[in-house]
Amino acid sequence: LCISIYSCNTEEKQAVKDRSQDAIEIKIDSIVSKMSLEEKIGQTAQRGKSSRVKELPPELKEAVRKGQIGSFLNIMNKEDAKELQRIAIEESPNHIPLIFARDVIHGFKTIFPIPLGQAASFNPEIVEKGSRIAAIEATTNGIRWTFAPMLDISRDPRWGRIAESAGEDPYLTSIMAQAYIKGFQGKDLSSPNSMAACAKHFIGYGAAEGGRDYNTANINDNLLHNVYLKPFKSAVEAGSATFMTGFNELNGIPASGNQYILRDQWGFDGFVVSDWNSILEMVNHGYAKDEKQAAEKAINAMLDMEMTSITYQDHLKTLIEEGKFSEKQLDEIVKNILRVKFKLGLFKNPYFDPDDSVLYTQEHLDAAKLAAIESTVLLKNNNNILPLKNKRKIAIVGPLADAPHEQLGTWTFDGEKEHTVTPFDAFKKDSTFVVSFARGLEFSRDKSTKGFQEAITTAQKSEIILFFAGEEAILSGEAHSRANIDLPGAQEALITELHKTGKPIVLVLMAGRPITLTNIIDKVDAVLMTWHPGTMGGPAIKELITGNVSPSGKLPITWPKEVGQIPIHYNHKNTGRPVIPEEFVSMDSIPVGAWQSSLGNTSHYLDTGYLPLYPFGYGLSYSNFTFSDIQISSKEPKLGDTIIIKVTVTNTGDRKAKETVQLYFRDMVGSVTRPVKELLRFKKLELKPNTKEVIEFRFSTNDLSFYGPEKNWITEPGDFKFWIAKNAHDTSNELNISIIE
Ligand code: BGC
Repeated sequence: LCISIYSCNTEEKQAVKDRSQDAIEIKIDSIVSKMSLEEKIGQTAQRGKSSRVKELPPELKEAVRKGQIGSFLNIMNKEDAKELQRIAIEESPNHIPLIFARDVIHGFKTIFPIPLGQAASFNPEIVEKGSRIAAIEATTNGIRWTFAPMLDISRDPRWGRIAESAGEDPYLTSIMAQAYIKGFQGKDLSSPNSMAACAKHFIGYGAAEGGRDYNTANINDNLLHNVYLKPFKSAVEAGSATFMTGFNELNGIPASGNQYILRDQWGFDGFVVSDWNSILEMVNHGYAKDEKQAAEKAINAMLDMEMTSITYQDHLKTLIEEGKFSEKQLDEIVKNILRVKFKLGLFKNPYFDPDDSVLYTQEHLDAAKLAAIESTVLLKNNNNILPLKNKRKIAIVGPLADAPHEQLGTWTFDGEKEHTVTPFDAFKKDSTFVVSFARGLEFSRDKSTKGFQEAITTAQKSEIILFFAGEEAILSGEAHSRANIDLPGAQEALITELHKTGKPIVLVLMAGRPITLTNIIDKVDAVLMTWHPGTMGGPAIKELITGNVSPSGKLPITWPKEVGQIPIHYNHKNTGRPVIPEEFVSMDSIPVGAWQSSLGNTSHYLDTGYLPLYPFGYGLSYSNFTFSDIQISSKEPKLGDTIIIKVTVTNTGDRKAKETVQLYFRDMVGSVTRPVKELLRFKKLELKPNTKEVIEFRFSTNDLSFYGPEKNWITEPGDFKFWIAKNAHDTSNELNISIIE
């Protein structure tokens, strides 16, 4: 037998793990056997304290003392957290520790780019490092549980919470899910600087009708399994300690009343928390006649913990007395919660070390800067205007050039704008530039033109204009959906005026979603999408603009030309119509007085065609990469075989840069139709100029499977296409294979 887990072989390690798991289960059983019904119900309760209330209310302390509360959210006063924990440990009947939670979404103090931006890095290492840092910082405040990552797939950038997601693709979101969970939970969840992750929102929240937050989701079975559930499955595989339900109803059943797949089929053994009041909201949904029935439906769906509302507290006892739920079932719920508390090591080590020296360390700031660099997507670069070459006199203009709070993005309760370095801060410190600055507009929604003249004069005195536009942080996030996703306020008008100066314009966007640019795209020479880049956004943007580093971000979401094209996503289905070039289906191509035209040929809009402005996976570099010598291990693999695709990637440009090689596939014929393209793998690599590397994608035919008509996962033999591509619309490197039985 091995003595330490580090000296064991795999089987021995598993045995040690099983034994410690068994030991935990024995302890949990023993605690549960001693708990009163009131205490058991208490473990299911998560409470908050309003930030407006200064002192800890005595009744909260009393409730902890009686074992009536299992968790708190948003207790940000460290002394309060300590005191509540002390009462739980020393004075409550079974000394069960509390677990403190908070939305630590893209950083605690050191803020990283919004999750949609981090997804654009296509670099899971960056995401893991960012969430590790978030955990290191947040745990010094006693936070051992974060309500992240949000894994809702969304195909609708009107939805404000798309900023918090990894975009439209199930594979990319799954990879990011694992990276977040690894980072938050660390190597050892019981270490004092690890936080339990919470995969949310289960399930379908991102499919809100019309992109209006909280709205109804209707997702058929095929789509649910093949798209929406996938990242959540990968979260279970990555060991996410908890899950959260959503506010939405899915196909008629509110998410908080329906946990069907999570435990039975995926074997999840952590606990599920409701969303804020979402059990209570089942009354408004029209799914429960009153609070009691809402509690009954949620508890029968085995929803373990109730966030903020108190339907469990008020009604569980009666529901058990009436036989609508059993105490035995409640025991299982309590065990799920205690299991996570054990895994977090809270029984052994319930207190935290309030060590502020770990906040904003140089290492954290450097990591945040690198994340902002790798998240930034270069969308347009006419005549290689970027990086700046001989231009020294620069005009920094726009409402987001020096807006430290806005730069942080949504869900940054703890990020402090005093620590944010803006693009203006970064450029003005660099003596190689003569920087002049005019905000032009006070904030992104500002409609006043009173700052225009100053901006124009500033531009006229310079060689190039860096225009920082986009959305304030508050324009995306929860409850902040938009019907139009263009540049708000008078930003377009100001760009139009600046264009008249004849100076080149680099448009640097900060926003929580893609922004429709139709009215101004031809008036700017370059576009850099930085999302909300976080604390170190300024220095990151400067490195990119000056060319110290090449942009390497790729879009995690399709960028529409017009809002009316939404939903638009690369992994759509084909229609029965042949696809014809977009120029043939424009409004202008119909002859006046025509009775009929060839426009019936493809699925499109007369006025915007069918192509987006930029496809999923798109992003330019200052360098240039080619793919060659593509080899596939077999053109006729058998079902179950491993397939290897090799490709030589060459940096043919004149600078070091990173490229993300993307592997897409299409299952040509299926017993249910399959998308025209699906991302299967990707690999980001860095190459020096004139160097090459052979990379390898390895997968099994099982990775090409889909959830089929028989309600199981199948790979059907037949023809498949693969593309080694720079984005979802790149078809230059195509491979055809046939899978045989
Ligand atoms: C959001 C959740 C969040 C919770 C706690 C809710 O409004 O939907 O995502 O974790 O609040 O702040």
